[in-house]
Amino acid sequence: MNFAEADKAVVVKGLERRFGAFVAVNRISLEVAKGEIFGFLGPNGAGKSTLLKAIYGFLEPAAGEVLLEGKSLKGVPTYERINMGIAYIPQQPGIFRWMSVEENLEMGAWTFRQDRRRIQRKLEENYTRFPTLKERRKSQAGELSGGMQRMVEIGRTLMTDPKVILVDEPTAGLATMLSETVYQMLVDLRDKEKITILLVDQDIRRALKIADYVYVLELGVNKFEGPAEEFTDLERAFWV
Ligand code: ADP
Ligand code: MG
Repeated sequence: MNFAEADKAVVVKGLERRFGAFVAVNRISLEVAKGEIFGFLGPNGAGKSTLLKAIYGFLEPAAGEVLLEGKSLKGVPTYERINMGIAYIPQQPGIFRWMSVEENLEMGAWTFRQDRRRIQRKLEENYTRFPTLKERRKSQAGELSGGMQRMVEIGRTLMTDPKVILVDEPTAGLATMLSETVYQMLVDLRDKEKITILLVDQDIRRALKIADYVYVLELGVNKFEGPAEEFTDLERAFWV
């Protein structure tokens, strides 16, 4: 194994994804350091969601490779990727509306569903992390606010102890106050639990506040990358 690559949370090499003749993600290469929030920015249709899905492995790339702590994810089935410590939260909220909060959290334990003690331990960890989930554990998830539903999704994702979380527009459609709660959850995961976060966000100003590093896409091509504090010139973000 290449030690420099093993030292990175994620390395993407020449990743390409097409839809027919259309190149949605064009030979993207990047490196995500461990424990940082890596923000993908760019206008609607830039290829952010497609890139995130291709990194996770939901979409088969036409070319390129993704390494998680130096190990290739090529051909690795979903359950094994989960065991390797990578998780993905899609843009569309994916809670089970008719199930309780606790049942939703337990769905995150699918890969170790026989291990009741581990499930219990992971539930307790979530209730310590997010006390409101404990209070509402018997509530039907569909009745919760949008921000709390995001909390349920994040909690469910954390059941498998991911080292790296890919999250696509977690605050889309949320009121400002609820968005702040969601951003704070991500910052806490980074700061308190050392989880690496790949964040796709349309809200450039707020993403810049929490991201350590930003990567700007336009029509599937990289337009800028660098530490978030170097992205001070908002005019570079022509779409804002
Ligand atoms: P973003 O998340 O930055 O808004 P997307 O990754 O969703 O952008 O989309 C990038 C481009 O790829 C867009 O032009 C979109 O229409 C196209 N695209 C995305 N998904 C599909 C698909 N399943 N089939 C065909 N084209 C797609
Ligand atoms: Mg998108």
